[in-house]
Amino acid sequence: MSNHPIIISGGGPVGLVAALSLAEKGLDVVILESSPEIPTDLRAGTFHPPTVEMLDTLSIGQELLNMGIKVPEWQIRDRKQGLVAQFDLNLIADETPYPFRLHCEQHKLSHLAFKALQKYPNARVMFGHTCSSYTQDEDGVTVQAESANGDTVELRGSYLLGCDGVRSIVRKTADIEFEGFTWPERFLVFATTFDLKKHGFTGNAYIADPDEWAAIFVQPHDGPPGIYRIAFPIKPEQDEAEVLSDDYVQSRIQGFLSPDQTYEIPYRSVYRVHQRVAQSFRKGRIALAGDAAHVNNPLGGMGLNSGIHDAINLADKLARIVLDGAPEALLDQYDRQRRLTNIEYVQAITIRNKKMLEERDPQIRAERLQEMRDTAADPEKHRAFLMNSSMINSVRRAAQID
Ligand SMILES: Cc1cc2nc3c(=O)[nH]c(=O)nc-3n(C[C@H](O)[C@H](O)[C@H](O)COP(=O)(O)OP(=O)(O)OC[C@H]3O[C@@H](n4cnc5c(N)ncnc54)[C@H](O)[C@@H]3O)c2cc1C
Repeated sequence: MSNHPIIISGGGPVGLVAALSLAEKGLDVVILESSPEIPTDLRAGTFHPPTVEMLDTLSIGQELLNMGIKVPEWQIRDRKQGLVAQFDLNLIADETPYPFRLHCEQHKLSHLAFKALQKYPNARVMFGHTCSSYTQDEDGVTVQAESANGDTVELRGSYLLGCDGVRSIVRKTADIEFEGFTWPERFLVFATTFDLKKHGFTGNAYIADPDEWAAIFVQPHDGPPGIYRIAFPIKPEQDEAEVLSDDYVQSRIQGFLSPDQTYEIPYRSVYRVHQRVAQSFRKGRIALAGDAAHVNNPLGGMGLNSGIHDAINLADKLARIVLDGAPEALLDQYDRQRRLTNIEYVQAITIRNKKMLEERDPQIRAERLQEMRDTAADPEKHRAFLMNSSMINSVRRAAQID
């Protein structure tokens, strides 16, 4: 067994989950995280059944389950016609012990994982340390990090995991292409305390409209009914300060619900969305996971989920290599399993979801929505659809790849 720890660049949810999984298996691990503390801005907040299953293999699983809101039913709606189709994860209760989407902000998962890591003497989280460069050789990696006060720290590790998000320095230094594209429109995300359940919404809904399509996710917030996060597209030419103004945000939600009311909007942000996958998830002793390896639009809530699937897969393989002397070729299998299924499922499904919601041609739009109605009405098709949208099929497919 190597005496050097596994170094992780990036203490976002994926880096922290990878670290916890490694630490709980008895491996030494060090996280370098640029920020002085865990960021608490609202980002991803949906955990699909296989992700809940994986997190429940860690010590934090039950606590996360207790914190979140269980959302067994979700909808596809049309902005003008209302409900188009409702899907019910209870239909696949024979396939998973968790037949629901668990809604909980990603920073709550990060905090839980960080708190759990503090119990392990073999785990260290170095906040305020930015991984700036590294080299690798036959026996390990040498990593330089800049501290918040400008000092350079050098660490020796057995492996380096790039969990450092979309602009990953680990990926860039390894000269790994980030293949794909960036959508021209950005997403405006805001949260309202208004109870959408009163308007017939389930805790998760996708609303089709050529201009004003939207995605809605309920999140825990000071007890029931929770807080509803709504994502809308904004045009490339729109000014960020304007779309974040009270007037603009109110006009978007008033156009969506009732124009006669002013809504409480405790949170708002704008972000850019990409569909990209790294050309390889492994290069020698470095491996990429989470947004460093792949990014996608949030329609289907798959980005963070697939990052956690990476983290758990990678931690299992590293434990077998470091503790049991298994061959390093397992890291190539990690690349094949996680990269291929990201392309086949996560990229394909999220692009298809976006195209369905924003379709401009009235006939194609009507056909696609009818297909959704027919799928929900037929128990076999409904089940098959849920197996893909819940990510169960993507995880099972990955497990079959040698
Ligand atoms: C504004 C915004 C809103 C989003 N909203 C949604 C949403 O509504 N739904 C959805 O599904 N997804 C959303 N996402 C995407 C989702 O948040 C990501 O998929 C998820 O955060 C991925 O986790 P991660 O740990 O891989 O990366 P991140 O969460 O990006 O974590 C990476 C971490 O690495 C740190 N870091 C970066 N570089 C270095 C370095 N060189 N050295 C050390 N540390 C470093 C960063 O500080 C950060 O903490 C959103 C993303 C953003 C940016």
